[in-house]
Amino acid sequence: MATPPNGPGNSKQPEKNPQPLIPKQYSFLWFSAAIFLMVLWLQDDGQTRLQELAYSDFKTAVVNGQVSQVTLKEEEITGQFTDSGNAAFSSDSTSQKSAESFHTIRPPMEDPSLLNLLEEHQITIRAAPSGLPWWQELIRSFLPWLLFLALMFWFWGAAQQRLTQGGNPLSFSRSKARRARKETSTTTLDDVAGIESAKREIAEIIDFLKAPEKYRALGASMPKGVLLVGPPGTGKTLLARAIAGEAEVPFYSISASEFIEMFVGVGAARVRDMFQEARKDGPALIFIDELDAIGRSRGAGLGGGHDEREQTLNQILTEMDGFESHENILVLAATNRPDVLDSALLRPGRFDRKITLDRPHKDARAAILKVHIRKVPLAPDVDLEQIAALTIGFSGADLKNLVNEAALTAARENLHEVTSHCFEVARDRIILGEVSDAHLSPEERTAVAYHECGHAIMAYYLPNADPLTRLTIIPHGMAMGMTEQTPREDHVTYKESYLRDRIKVMLGGRCAEKLIYGEVSTGAQNDLKEATALVRRMIGQWGMSEKIGPLGLNIGEEHVFLGREMGMPREFSEKMAEMIDAEIQAQLLSMEKQTLDFLTEHRDQLETLAKAVLEEETLSAEDVKGILLKE
Ligand code: ADP
Ligand code: MG
Ligand code: ZN
Repeated sequence: MATPPNGPGNSKQPEKNPQPLIPKQYSFLWFSAAIFLMVLWLQDDGQTRLQELAYSDFKTAVVNGQVSQVTLKEEEITGQFTDSGNAAFSSDSTSQKSAESFHTIRPPMEDPSLLNLLEEHQITIRAAPSGLPWWQELIRSFLPWLLFLALMFWFWGAAQQRLTQGGNPLSFSRSKARRARKETSTTTLDDVAGIESAKREIAEIIDFLKAPEKYRALGASMPKGVLLVGPPGTGKTLLARAIAGEAEVPFYSISASEFIEMFVGVGAARVRDMFQEARKDGPALIFIDELDAIGRSRGAGLGGGHDEREQTLNQILTEMDGFESHENILVLAATNRPDVLDSALLRPGRFDRKITLDRPHKDARAAILKVHIRKVPLAPDVDLEQIAALTIGFSGADLKNLVNEAALTAARENLHEVTSHCFEVARDRIILGEVSDAHLSPEERTAVAYHECGHAIMAYYLPNADPLTRLTIIPHGMAMGMTEQTPREDHVTYKESYLRDRIKVMLGGRCAEKLIYGEVSTGAQNDLKEATALVRRMIGQWGMSEKIGPLGLNIGEEHVFLGREMGMPREFSEKMAEMIDAEIQAQLLSMEKQTLDFLTEHRDQLETLAKAVLEEETLSAEDVKGILLKE
């Protein structure tokens, strides 16, 4: 089947550098040992067999004529015994080599009698300059600096060496923890649900990795790179693992953000390593997650790290160009921002295949749920189809989370099975967040009720808005209340009428406050922000304004922080910008007026609904319907 480990795939493998006699990482040890010895030598003044004397003993020896000469150096006195002195002071009488010299310290007080005493006994007096000879002083004062510099050079050199060789066992880029992880994946395609078209496409890739000869006999070569594109949590990483698991090839994975390192060049070295090892393994899969972290258009973005990113990216490109089709390495990369990728990455011969994963639609959600409930004991009342219908907008990861939360809820309530109630609780927790214990005064609570009912009335009556499903004034997370709407179906595109009704629902909360209290509160901040952003895009991107016309402008684009928009000049004039701003304002004002008029017309319903929700705290769609129909 596969190319043997020493097949032609390895011919490009570079020779290992011969090891130097003293491995470079030990040279520093040698160097410091040498310095240490030198310090010892400097401390030792070259005098051996020195007899330590007490100062008083020394004076006695002088008086007794046992000293022949002395050298005075500040408080230190060294000197030599006469023969008789030698005999008297030798510590080891049996030893031939008894002490000939002595050493003593003068008390720090002046002793003017000493010189007289020495002269009296006709002892040769020498004086030594205080301190060390100049060159020793020099070395001593510079030694710490020398050591410091040596250390710096060593670190620097070592880092350089790692970068250039990449083969050193102590190097950062290959340190076990940070290395690209090689694994044998146990994930199979059965674990991936709901993305049938993507699965069909990768079936071919798996087949090729398993039996490359079949394809090569026909002169076909496989794409070198496959790009998995999709929003977070849609199963990109999962799919990559499944490919490796099905094809039974080694799987090298690394997240692109891990490439970004302190030292410029480490990322590139890591890429080189990863490809080198994968090559050794014959058919193998390399998976680079979050490719946009390095593969972003060059020259875009703010802040530092450009060099590092660029070098890493260039290395990936070089490696992908460098390997031959017979090497059977497939590079998979995942990103949720294909729009910011450098065009060099998307050229043929690199990531020329693209597999797009979308948020799952209803049937796909049901299929994904089925995968994740495999190990969960379900109560008979659980209807997966219904759960799938109620989880519009959930990604695969969200659904997995939902099943897990439901199981946790069941455990908390000491159930033996996971019931549909558990799923409801879990869904609420995911959508709304935890119930918060924000404490509202009665007036505030009433105001929140009117605000939410304003949203609810609009959602209930407007024909194009998403149907109202629930209304609550129990604070969840940051929100003081919540009007929940569930789309009738999964949307791919939106009509203008839908968007307008949606904005009116958003403005309903603020307008209800205005209507009831004659003024507004800070509670509508988020509503206004969302409404403004939406109108901006309607006008700027989707041409939904008669005044501005069918212009597609680069305004209101998301992910400004990723750098694309920052680097891009505004492609319309100052005058146009003014017109757009005026149009945004005009549209918002007009929609606010329509909403306010609508609520004024339905004031009675608003008051009734607010009363009901103040009593019940939470109303379902049926409750709301019952109350409003009675009116
Ligand atoms: P991404 O890499 O696209 O952000 P992941 O592959 O990490 O998403 O998905 C996270 C988890 O969500 C997976 O481990 C898997 O359990 C679940 N999941 C996502 N998509 C699917 C799917 N299509 N089928 C089954 N499980 C899925
Ligand atoms: Mg992922
Ligand atoms: Zn609101």
